Amino acid sequence: MVSIDPTMPHNSESSSQDESQCSKSLNERIFVLWESVWAGRDKEELFQNVLSQVAEQFSRAFKINELKTEVTNRLAMLEKRVELEGLKVVEIEKCRSDIKKLREEMASRNNRINCLNTSSDFARSPTRIGCKFDSAVSSFLDDNKKLTPRRDVPSYPKYHLSQETVETLRKPIFDVWQWEHNEMLSCLEHMYHDLGLVKDFSINPITLKRWLLCIHDNYRNNPFHNFRHCFCVTQMMYSMIYLCSLQEKFTQVDILILMTAAVCHDLDHPGYNNTYQINARTELAVRYNDISPLENHHCAVAFQIFSQPDCNIFSNFDPEAFKQIRQGTITLILATDMARHGEILDSFKQKVDSFDFTNEEHVTCLKMVLIKCCDISNEVRPMEVAEPWVDCLLEEYFMQSDREKSEGLPVAPFMDREKVTKPTAQIGFIKFVLIPMFETVMKLFPQIEEVMVQPLRESRDRYEELKQIDDAMNEVQKKKSENLTMGGKKK
Ligand SMILES: [Zn+2]
Repeated sequence: MVSIDPTMPHNSESSSQDESQCSKSLNERIFVLWESVWAGRDKEELFQNVLSQVAEQFSRAFKINELKTEVTNRLAMLEKRVELEGLKVVEIEKCRSDIKKLREEMASRNNRINCLNTSSDFARSPTRIGCKFDSAVSSFLDDNKKLTPRRDVPSYPKYHLSQETVETLRKPIFDVWQWEHNEMLSCLEHMYHDLGLVKDFSINPITLKRWLLCIHDNYRNNPFHNFRHCFCVTQMMYSMIYLCSLQEKFTQVDILILMTAAVCHDLDHPGYNNTYQINARTELAVRYNDISPLENHHCAVAFQIFSQPDCNIFSNFDPEAFKQIRQGTITLILATDMARHGEILDSFKQKVDSFDFTNEEHVTCLKMVLIKCCDISNEVRPMEVAEPWVDCLLEEYFMQSDREKSEGLPVAPFMDREKVTKPTAQIGFIKFVLIPMFETVMKLFPQIEEVMVQPLRESRDRYEELKQIDDAMNEVQKKKSENLTMGGKKK
């Protein structure tokens, strides 16, 4: 708006000259006024233009922000859907294998009933071998049935580890007895993530879950060689990787081989050792010509599992990398045959004083010793964690020796329930197998002395004390029964 100039003279009727002069100056003034009105309008328009441009910029900025938020929200929703779909796939597969498992169980029960009903026809019955050896040997047909994941661990995909668990998991003091199977699966999954293996090798996290479930399903419920033993060995390997800073010395491929071999090393263990397999001429012994039948079988089952695309954590690997992982894993699993203990330890002793981390042969030998250490490392753990394992092992040994006796096969004294006790079983093993091996590894990694070797020495001392008590009790018992016999004779 333009304001009228307050100094503009008013019209007066006093003189015409004055009037003409007056109207002239009025016109001029109106002209000036119009000019100033137009100039004002220009300014206003300019101002309006600037205002509208600023407003437009602001609204664009707001729109971009709105768009950004919308895109972010949509992405989050999509991610969640992908995750849920992935979990649904796992659930569906578990349901499917549930049904399959039920069918198998029904079929095997029918078979068992048939076996019992037709015992006189055993010699001609094709199910006979299965009936007689079903728990002692494995058949590849049975393995194929077990290869798909089951629903045994329903809460596994939802389980979260506490910070405390995550920290203790890296130490040999971890209490392996207080965890359910689904929790152990979560721990194993965590180890692969924590060591950077999932990221470095682009392992599909859902495939990792499925693979671990499948691994779980392919361990049998033996007293000792079961899924918890698999977990113990892998957890000890994980602890050693941290304790010995192995990620600074080894490649990530070596770390992947160490962990994967530990996870797979006793797959489908039937609960009867190689000696039984060979003496009883089982299907496994025949298949592998008496050469580490069990360890060969564990390896074969491991790679049968990897041959299923859904469980193949190495699906992103090129053929050369897969070959390397396969070879490394096989070498380590085969090294867990205790019949080769002396050979492997001697080879390591020759290398340890001039150990070279750039020498492939040296590194392979060390990896073999490491998996051996982890496999028999229960006595490294605190006494209350270690001791129940001795009972489990003896239970499995006694099951074997009882069977050997009933089948007329040779029985090893350390497995005979008439001859072995907990202290006698442990003393020799700790003194002559465990301590010498861990002390050799200690030359390369002095940090294991306090955490791993010292507990072994303490355990040896404790079992020696227990043995002395046992001996003294036996002596008293012997004298008592001698006195009773003599008393009886006197009468
Ligand atoms: Zn083992």
